[in-house]
Amino acid sequence: MSEARAHTRQFGGARLARLEAETLLAAKTEDLRRATEEFERLSAALGRRVDELEAERALTLHLARTDGLTGLLNRGAFTSALIERLEDAHESGERVALFVIDLDHFKHLNDTLGHHAGDLLLNEMGTRLRGQARHGDLVARLGGDEFALITAAPDVAARAEQLTTALAQAYWIYGRTVAPSASVGVAVFPDNAVDATDLQRFADMALYRAKAGGGRRFSIFDREMREASDRRNSLEGDLRRAIPQGEIVPWFQPVVDAQDSRIVGVEVLARWNHPEQGLLLPGVFVPLAEELGLIGQMDAAVFAAACQRAAPWVAQGLIDTVSCNVSPRELLDPAFSRNLIRRLRATDLPATALTVEITETFLVDDLDLARRHIERLAACGVRVALDDFGTGYSNLRALMQLPIHTVKLDQSLIGDVGRDPRVSKLVRSMLQAATSLDCRIVAEGVEDEGQALFLRAAGCDRLQGYLFARPMPAEAVEARLLESAAARVPLGPAVTPIPLRNSR
Ligand code: C2E
Ligand code: CA
Ligand code: CA
Repeated sequence: MSEARAHTRQFGGARLARLEAETLLAAKTEDLRRATEEFERLSAALGRRVDELEAERALTLHLARTDGLTGLLNRGAFTSALIERLEDAHESGERVALFVIDLDHFKHLNDTLGHHAGDLLLNEMGTRLRGQARHGDLVARLGGDEFALITAAPDVAARAEQLTTALAQAYWIYGRTVAPSASVGVAVFPDNAVDATDLQRFADMALYRAKAGGGRRFSIFDREMREASDRRNSLEGDLRRAIPQGEIVPWFQPVVDAQDSRIVGVEVLARWNHPEQGLLLPGVFVPLAEELGLIGQMDAAVFAAACQRAAPWVAQGLIDTVSCNVSPRELLDPAFSRNLIRRLRATDLPATALTVEITETFLVDDLDLARRHIERLAACGVRVALDDFGTGYSNLRALMQLPIHTVKLDQSLIGDVGRDPRVSKLVRSMLQAATSLDCRIVAEGVEDEGQALFLRAAGCDRLQGYLFARPMPAEAVEARLLESAAARVPLGPAVTPIPLRNSR
């Protein structure tokens, strides 16, 4: 091979290699450019997705913290905000006021105007509250018609006044004006309480006071409420011990035949033998037991003891009826009647001698459940009495459909009977209603002879009250029963006989 040809070949090879290298480089550069582009596209998309997710998260968080109807904080968010605010206040030394606000008669407005109007009204109230808030305040809807405001503490009374006034402004809805109003309860950190739970509890107590005063007003937690709360707390501990230790016992109040004043039955009334405070009445401990969810346990204990005590009196023919009170709370338990029958069977009292006293509120709350309980009891021979008749709705239509055996005319109606003609007329018509339902009628709270005379003539079957006997311990009532059986003397004042009605 000539030298020149060899040179040409060598030169050509290098050029080729360079060309190849350049092509490769160009291709790689293009790959890199595409990759960079793709990367940028992806990272932009990723950025957008991250933004979206963040927005979604913020929205979810917002929704989780917000009341859907009013846009205010909801209960959960309110609770954490209150805890946080108190922690801050603890450090800064700031005083914080908690206002709890409850609309008056909202249920009635809701029922009469409809739920949509009710929602509009709640929304309006939320707007008004927001309008009352100052910088740094927190406004929440705690649920239903209950709201709250957390604010710095100065001029608490003036703020409460402003709130109550603002919420009581007339509101125009569906072509008519409604006059809403609200009750407000206030408690202050750290004056009244240092933690969120107590602060809320005390504000609620103040609210309760405002409600009890008739609504459309505010109440600020004070020393008197603090003492009541302390008493309640110590009683709460006592009550938890008292039930298992048998400190709550049945007492018995005789019920007499209206015609001859013979004792024919007893009503079981609970009494608490408190080790330090002496004898306590149900007005003190029954509401507490209800609030603490102990009422079922308490009633079961009183019931068992009462049936056991009274069974021999029934067996000996001294009385025919033992009446026991049950709390409306217990009646909400679908197993109530079954449990009661089971407990009754563990005693020696025959089912037909037992009357269970229930109040009308229960019939209003849940008529279907009431019917099931009453029918189940009636099927076993247990009688049901409607207590405090004449104080509630007196839904006669509902009563007519239920196997109610006895109606107990409330003592608030008895006071002026025979004295005030209007009361007498009212009672007479209530008695007529009860008679048309074919119920036995018992009048309670009979304190004087005038009342007894009137009630007897008006058609009551049985009477109960201080005129005849007060509630008393088992031994005392047993002595009375044996005594009157031996002597066959009527209890209480002698009466002029009047013709007997169809005996029930
Ligand atoms: P209630 O069922 O309406 O019982 C009648 C109340 O009137 C009793 O009050 C009784 O002592 C009182 N009373 C009877 N005769 C007269 C009278 O002539 N004049 C006046 N002013 N009062 C009279 P007590 O024993 O204080 O019971 C109050 C309420 O507590 C009862 O009202 C009943 O609702 C409830 N209660 C009582 N014992 C029990 C129980 O064991 N369980 C439940 N769940 N509630 C009970
Ligand atoms: Ca009763
Ligand atoms: Ca009663």
